[in-house]
Amino acid sequence: MEFKDFELIYKENRVEINDRTKIESDLRDIVGSNNVSTMKIDLLAYTKDSSLISLNWTIEGKIAGLADFITWPETTKQICDILKLANQERIPVIPYGEGSGVVGGAIPLYGGIIIDMKKFNKVIKINDRDLTVTAEAGINGMNLERYLNAKGYTSGHIPQSLYTSSLGGWIAHRAAGQFSTKYGKIEDMVLGMELILPQGEIINFKTIVRASTGPQFNKLFIGGEGTLGIVTKATLRIWPLPEKKTLISYAFPTIEFSFDAVRKILREQIYPAVIRIYDKFETARHFPDIEKAKEKVMVIFICEGNSKLVDLEELITKEKCEANSGVECGESPVNHWLETRFRVTETSSMPPYKIVFDTIEIASLWDNAAEIYHLVLESMNDFKGILMITAHVSHFYPNGVGIYFSFGGVPPKGETDLEFYQGCWDATIKAVLDAGGSIGHHHGVGINRSHWMDEEWGKSLSTLRQIKNVLDPNNILNPGKIYVNTWKRGDS
Ligand SMILES: Cc1cc2nc3c(=O)[nH]c(=O)nc-3n(C[C@H](O)[C@H](O)[C@H](O)COP(=O)(O)OP(=O)(O)OC[C@H]3O[C@@H](n4cnc5c(N)ncnc54)[C@H](O)[C@@H]3O)c2cc1C
Repeated sequence: MEFKDFELIYKENRVEINDRTKIESDLRDIVGSNNVSTMKIDLLAYTKDSSLISLNWTIEGKIAGLADFITWPETTKQICDILKLANQERIPVIPYGEGSGVVGGAIPLYGGIIIDMKKFNKVIKINDRDLTVTAEAGINGMNLERYLNAKGYTSGHIPQSLYTSSLGGWIAHRAAGQFSTKYGKIEDMVLGMELILPQGEIINFKTIVRASTGPQFNKLFIGGEGTLGIVTKATLRIWPLPEKKTLISYAFPTIEFSFDAVRKILREQIYPAVIRIYDKFETARHFPDIEKAKEKVMVIFICEGNSKLVDLEELITKEKCEANSGVECGESPVNHWLETRFRVTETSSMPPYKIVFDTIEIASLWDNAAEIYHLVLESMNDFKGILMITAHVSHFYPNGVGIYFSFGGVPPKGETDLEFYQGCWDATIKAVLDAGGSIGHHHGVGINRSHWMDEEWGKSLSTLRQIKNVLDPNNILNPGKIYVNTWKRGDS
């Protein structure tokens, strides 16, 4: 297939670049010739992130967005200079970590310059007394964790995409790992950060445990999705590797019983590192051989840390499960999860069958968690073309949960994959908003959620837009994301 044969999905707002040769030559001057490419093979590699709909598009010969230049800067000064050039020439710039985002965040909607952060890949230092690690933002997640493990530590941030995501991407999308109930989410872990503002100015948030020196400004950039600045370095909290791990699993008659058990465990200030509730559909899919879990809701737990504390956590976890009709299923379901937790073959096997598949994670207080779960299932089951809708719950707080829905279906006749996909997202998000939930837990906004942001944020979104305008008056940094109704633009 020739490059020109690919159909471009997001073409409407592409920025025309007048003097390509000059811009390319300027970029070569800034980062060196080896660190710039306009080769088709490279442009093609950066047309999408890991949004699952892009797999369907690839099979159909479609590409999401098309950048004009790919760059791999090696220093902060080079990034500053690219941003200054981009402002001068009004060219979009898209920061790129490892492209594992699933909401379209790294797609070059308007074309422009990709800044791939992969050469910012070093651990700078570990401080044992402070329990911190400082690393460059492009470092691969697994490389960082391996480095820490070899020295006797863990960051506690273990997303399913550990092997394919970067520290900067975690910060940009406010990520949450599989062990988040004990170790917290990325915003709990970042103690200090360096970033470059859209006009090329470097700012530093010094490493602090906390401070009462005005608003916590760095939080504005955790979740900025590459629209407010480019993160170049961060200092994270770390922990000594756990002394003991205990694997526990229970099957419950309904999702409500499982919610009650977990809620009551957390009320006791017991924080198992991993808690995963699988609804009865996902229990059947993942644990078909566990007799005691037939037609039930499986919950797995990992308690880890100091062995005396872990023993107590195990005791209380089991007590609460049994008091809420849980039936003990032993260690094997947890071992199964540990063995398979980085495998995603299920999702990538769907597109060849023309199935549109995706996952949507949302957040809720305990009060309406069960209602949201049922409402989403009802709305999606009524949605024309849907073949499956299931859920698991893997992030917990004493006050609520993050629920993770998976859906799959075939577009009805006359509908494109994208129209069907958007319809499924909209039906889920509407149900979540109707029941008082929040529309995203840890994958970010990107393109997929941007047209719901007014409902999610209310009037405060206009203040965020004003901040964006002040920081990025030429709207060059990752345009078309978070603040704008991108889907409508793409469709019109
Ligand atoms: C199979 C699979 C499993 C996943 N599991 C999880 C999970 O368990 N938990 C979770 O939270 N997410 C998960 N994700 C989503 C994804 O991995 C995260 O969103 C991740 O944080 C993105 O990191 P990345 O480096 O790949 O970023 P990219 O996809 O490259 O970029 C994501 C966004 O961040 C911006 N960005 C990237 N680097 C920087 C930087 N240095 N400075 C400023 N902006 C930047 C980009 O412009 C873009 O908007 C999963 C994804 C997949 C495909």
